[in-house]
Amino acid sequence: MRMILVGPPGAGKGTQAERLVKYYGIPHISTGDMLRAAVGAGTELGKQADGFMKRGDLVPDAVVIGMAIERIQQTDCRSGFMLDGFPRTRAQAGALDVALTQASVQLDAVVLIDVADERIVERIVGRRNDPVTGKIYHVRYNPPPADVAARVVQRKDDTEEACRARLEKYHSETRPILPFYDSKQLLIRVDGEGGPDEITNRIISALKSLAG
Ligand code: AMP
Repeated sequence: MRMILVGPPGAGKGTQAERLVKYYGIPHISTGDMLRAAVGAGTELGKQADGFMKRGDLVPDAVVIGMAIERIQQTDCRSGFMLDGFPRTRAQAGALDVALTQASVQLDAVVLIDVADERIVERIVGRRNDPVTGKIYHVRYNPPPADVAARVVQRKDDTEEACRARLEKYHSETRPILPFYDSKQLLIRVDGEGGPDEITNRIISALKSLAG
């Protein structure tokens, strides 16, 4: 399975990616996670990305494209992968298309997890991450268990201001790439409202019907 997970910030991409990669046994490639790791490690790439991420801006294509393409060329991605948060611009989608064509591989699906803008801010601002397990919680909808609650942290870009900026970028830069995948009959739209299990089931059954 070679798939892309796309959606507005806070749609549940991270949560669903975690489940889907287990189900399909494929590597999870999150450019957001890669960039956060680079920022944490203080690498040159991390230093370039930090300011953009804090503001909720997209990191320039020149930084992200090389990083993502290099990752999918690694051997563990040979029989499949899940791209989470990449591509996010037309230039990224174009670069990915070229790289996949050169490798003679094809995408199986692009899954759009759709959530209305009004719900996004509430979801993002209440989001908390467990730095030990990487699990994602929400203070109201999916509170962490008592033994985890004390150690959860909030992402630097999960403030209301950065969230609004990310949402704006999603509409101006990322949504316009969807018709490209739709024209190749790869796009699957899934309603992102509901419990995590319900949404996982929706995605898996949509992928099964695509394969059948
Ligand atoms: P995410 O974890 O996917 O929500 O990404 C967090 C932040 O990392 C984004 O708001 C961007 O600043 C940056 N980022 C992640 N993926 C990309 C990408 N494909 N292109 C540009 N910036 C990205």
